[in-house]
Amino acid sequence: MKPAAIRTQVSSGGVIFRKVEGDDLEIALVAVKDGKVWSLPKGIVEKGEEAQQTAVREVREETGLSGKIMDKIGDISYWYYIKDDNAKCRKTVHFYLLEYVSGSTSDHNWEVDAAEWFPIEAALGRLSYKGDKEIVGKAKEMLLDK
Ligand code: ATP
Repeated sequence: MKPAAIRTQVSSGGVIFRKVEGDDLEIALVAVKDGKVWSLPKGIVEKGEEAQQTAVREVREETGLSGKIMDKIGDISYWYYIKDDNAKCRKTVHFYLLEYVSGSTSDHNWEVDAAEWFPIEAALGRLSYKGDKEIVGKAKEMLLDK
């Protein structure tokens, strides 16, 4: 069946980081799809919300971690098919760099199967989507420049 409609969605998310012993960097990822897919925390930009606010809120809800926005990292876009709607959706996701302030990954919400800290190199290996890997690659360069 040919898709009946084209939809667009805008989401926003974050790469939240912390420094551990030896100045090594860790970032938080979330597991979805029964724990099989690891991705960056993100969600739909709600009405009346700025993309930055969405990033802070979605990171907090999905990972249990509160963070402070340091910078914009970039955007990614992808297409996916919405079966119930027989529609093709083009999604754009804005990503921000957040410095960890407080909270625990054990407080992640029901939308994800798990939330975990990973050393940044391990996170690059663990992420399922190319776009997410590109964003973490950029975040790593931004953090090394600091
Ligand atoms: P949101 O977290 O923004 O509320 P959602 O959970 O409803 O969104 P997505 O995570 O965008 O939806 O997933 C919709 C489809 O897009 C799924 O099939 C998923 O596998 C795919 N998808 C998710 N992230 C990416 C990505 N970075 N690159 C390519 N495809 C992706």
